[in-house]
Amino acid sequence: MNIFESTRDKSLNTTASMAILNGLAEDGGLYMMNNLKEKQIDLNALLHQDYYGIAKVVLGTLLDDYTAEEIHDCVHGAYEHKFASDDITPLVKVKDDFILELFHGPTAAFKDIALSILPHFITTSLKKHHIEEEILILTATSGDTGKAALEGFKDVKGTQIIVFYPKNGVSAVQEAQMLTTTGSNVRVVGVEGNFDDTQNGVKAIFTNQEFDGLLKQSKTQFSSANSINIGRLTPQIVYYFKAYLDCVNRGEITMGEPMNFIVPTGNFGNILAGYFAKCVGLPIAQLVCASNENNVLTDFISTGIYDKNREFKKTTSPSMDILISSNLERLLYLLSEGNCDEVASYMKDLKEKGKYQVSDDLLKRLQADFYGGCLDSQEVAKVIKDVYEETHYLMDTHTAVAYGVAMKFKTAKINNYKNVILSTASPFKFTHSVYAAIHEECDTDEFVLMKRLSDETAVEIPENLRDLDLKGILHSDVIDKSEMSQYVRHCLEVKE
Ligand SMILES: *Cc1c(COP(=O)(O)O)cnc(C)c1O
Repeated sequence: MNIFESTRDKSLNTTASMAILNGLAEDGGLYMMNNLKEKQIDLNALLHQDYYGIAKVVLGTLLDDYTAEEIHDCVHGAYEHKFASDDITPLVKVKDDFILELFHGPTAAFKDIALSILPHFITTSLKKHHIEEEILILTATSGDTGKAALEGFKDVKGTQIIVFYPKNGVSAVQEAQMLTTTGSNVRVVGVEGNFDDTQNGVKAIFTNQEFDGLLKQSKTQFSSANSINIGRLTPQIVYYFKAYLDCVNRGEITMGEPMNFIVPTGNFGNILAGYFAKCVGLPIAQLVCASNENNVLTDFISTGIYDKNREFKKTTSPSMDILISSNLERLLYLLSEGNCDEVASYMKDLKEKGKYQVSDDLLKRLQADFYGGCLDSQEVAKVIKDVYEETHYLMDTHTAVAYGVAMKFKTAKINNYKNVILSTASPFKFTHSVYAAIHEECDTDEFVLMKRLSDETAVEIPENLRDLDLKGILHSDVIDKSEMSQYVRHCLEVKE
């Protein structure tokens, strides 16, 4: 059975299904499989499988205390009839590159892929372990996780969910998506602060022992829908395999030929799933980490110094406006060969000084697998306009960050392998910025623009974004960032 241990302390370990239920290890570390590289997935056996088949093999290999039947039910329950494409994650060729479209799920962003299946993992785990307690999902969102988690968990028996989002840090469409969510077990709360504040607030609640008594009384356990939950990351490994095998099946590459993957990055979850894919045998040459003006990661990859002491910038790719990329901790664990003391000391520095520097040895290993680049909002707008005018492919701002960095990566001539660019959101999720990129000026009402953009480009608005402005607002709580734990306490008290 695979063992999942805290990145900061090997003695805190458990199985996959319990790690998913717990969300975060007791010491604030993240759960990581301690023998990932020993698990090798046979690509040839997956060659003619569809998304479901690939998912069952990948998830079954890593989350191995679920039975094959349980994994089968989770995979089909999550994806069947819920995605606008039978392929789940279609691969589109644009000029010489491949764009992996991850946004055809219920909320039009890539987080749907993991958050459609996470509730199934959690309820299966509750059943499996005969746990009677209710699960309270605490989620911090920079905009897209929130809605995807709400859609995944709404009306799921045995669960409640609270989503905290930065009140002035998400797009109008993202906010409308969240505030119109139905379901008797959901709460959506605006926080006066930025994403890092909400994420820190949630992490602090998780490790605050003062909640222990109240949780017991109200027969509740906390869990997380953020990518700190290993159940969020593992489903994302699947589409790296799918994209690669699509290229083999279409004759674009030969089996075994390496490819590069360019990933628009915020919390480092998506790109880390790519690294997991590489660890378990997918021929990936470079993982290219694409950042916006909040380019902490670009600097980290080039210098080995992670320094979040800098101005937080609001960009046109808000889902990547993050200065503390939580999942980097898992990469440090893997690159240090599971040296928990080393990871714990970096995390201590981060907490105390907002900064840490990795050893030369670790930096060398980091640079062998990763390349970092960034784009500012002006460059992003130019990418959207140029690619649209040249090819009629319409992309959102986050995808454009990756596309632009891919072009810089190609210019740097690191290798000559083919490139897959991950597309993380529908352009209609960020209509205002996308429209403004193509035309110099634009109206302020995002919903009017959505229709106009669709008419002009002949690209259809995803079903779930249509008529969003006509739905009723169902949530109105707004709190200060210092009030998050009080808010959760109140929710638990009401339950008793
Ligand atoms: C969350 C998100 C990202 C960043 O992904 P991470 O896993 O946090 O690195 C990029 N683009 C979009 C549209 C997102 O919603």
